[in-house]
Formats: sequence, C-alpha cells, structure tokens
Amino acid sequence: MIIGSHVHFGSDQILGSLNEALSYDANAFMLYTGAPQNTMRKSIDLNYLNSALKIMQEHNLSMDNVICHAPYIINLANKEKIDSWNFSISFLKQEIKRCETLGIKYIVLHPGSSVKHSTEEGIANIIEALNYVINADTKCMILLETMAGKGSECGKTLEEIKQILDGVNSSNIGVCLDTCHLNDAGYDMHNFEEFLDKFDNLIGISRIKCIHINDSKNILNSHKDRHENIGLGTLGFETILKIVNNAKLKDVPKILETPYISASDGNKELVYPPYKYEIAMLRNGNFNANLINDIREYYK
Ligand code: FE
Ligand code: FE
Ligand code: ZN
Repeated sequence: MIIGSHVHFGSDQILGSLNEALSYDANAFMLYTGAPQNTMRKSIDLNYLNSALKIMQEHNLSMDNVICHAPYIINLANKEKIDSWNFSISFLKQEIKRCETLGIKYIVLHPGSSVKHSTEEGIANIIEALNYVINADTKCMILLETMAGKGSECGKTLEEIKQILDGVNSSNIGVCLDTCHLNDAGYDMHNFEEFLDKFDNLIGISRIKCIHINDSKNILNSHKDRHENIGLGTLGFETILKIVNNAKLKDVPKILETPYISASDGNKELVYPPYKYEIAMLRNGNFNANLINDIREYYK
C-alpha cells in the first residue's frame, strides 16, 4: 500500500518533509512548498534535496509517491479581478518550476471557485488559465482535485472535472480524488466500485494519480468539506479500508489529510498528528475505536 499524509515544509524543506513522513512509517507524502494559505515561497535549497534523495533511496521511497499541493489562494475560476487571476496563473507556473527542481511529478490543484460567475464561466476561466500554464515543456502534471461543492467551487461533479480535462490542450493533466469531498459532493463512498465504474466510463481510471483519504464529518451531499479522522465519520473504517485496498488503484499514492488531535496538558493547548496511527490501522486492517485517546497517550 502506498500511503502517507500531508507533511510540513519547513526551514529544511523537503528533507524535513521526508523525515516527518518517515516518522509516520509512510512510503508517500504530500507537501506544500510553503504555507498552504499564502504564496510566500523560498527558493529550493539543493543541499536539502540531495540529502533527501539519498534517504529516499535507502527507504525505497520513490519520487512518484511525492505529491505537491498548490496553495489554496490560487483561483483560476474567478476572472473578476483580472490582476488576481493573472497572479494565480503566474504563481502556479512558478510552483510547477519549484516542483520540477525538486523532481516532483504531481501537483494537486483545487480547480477554483467561480464566485460571482456561473459555474460554466468559472470552468471556462479555469480552462483558459490552464492552457496558459501547461505547455509542451511542462514535466510536472497538474491533478485536479474533486471538490466538496462548498460555496461556488468548481469540480464538484465528475462531469465538471471532465469538462476541464477536455478543454485543456494537453493530456498532461490528471485527477486527485478526495474521499471526504466526494461524499460531501453527493457520491456515496459506500458504493465505491459503482463510483469507480462511473469514473472509468466518463474519464478513465488511469487519470487518477493521487487519492486524498479522509473521513467526513458531514452527511452525503452536504457540500461542507470538513475532514474527519479515519473511521470516525460518515464513510467509516470498512469503507475507507476497501478504497485503500482497491486493486485498480494499487499504484496510486493515498494521502491522509485528517485533522490533528487536540490535547491539553493543563497549561496550553497541544495538537498531535494522527497519521502514524491511521497509517498503521489501514495497513493492518484493524480499526481502533480508541484512536484519539491512544494518540494523545503516545505523544504525551
Ligand atoms: Fe486539497
Ligand atoms: Fe484534499
Ligand atoms: Zn478538503
């Protein structure tokens, strides 16, 4: 099973991200090249990269299983403020360059929110922008993430995703499924095979290059986008277990984006990453209903 989580990208850049992933016993990971909420970025330090590459080799962790996530504030769907739209395009281009320097092959992108535009207009804007961003030299593949449909998000149905893929003048573009988002968008993950058939007929399974594995705090079709820890939400452990073990998606990296566990030591509020535990649960196939408390104990 190729599984990991999102990790930090701090002062020691991809080396720190890798070490964090290894501390969770992960063999895949997803990073942001800076804070996900902003576009302040430092240039890539090749010393950290070379150290990371050595350790990755020792651990048999392939660059195919390292994913980048573009920052949330990139919005290709809204052209109302043309400066912001142009900034999103140029920032995404730079982000792709950073990925190419790191040797990262996949970059996950939220398609965008149309805001005051219609979904149709939003999708047209996304297509236009992606056609500026992706060219024949682009080595890194953009993966459109399936969205929950919160607010005016585009990419909440497979049809919308397909429309964007079809509009882009390149086959160098793929899809990142997000199980929480799919549930919130109205796709019942309890019938995952049915969903996958639908996806295959419409888009083709081979275009799925990454899957965000999250449980959901909300009911089917809620359009909320609030992630829950594995087994504690609407999807439930058995459903998620089936998804991560699906033979058709065997080679696709699975990335956890579940919430940190809050704890208090009496003086201050602390948060602990759940990933080591969740990865272990999914690998051994046994749900631990006491997950939250066990994580608090482990990090205490
Ligand atoms: Fe995302
Ligand atoms: Fe996601
Ligand atoms: Zn989400």
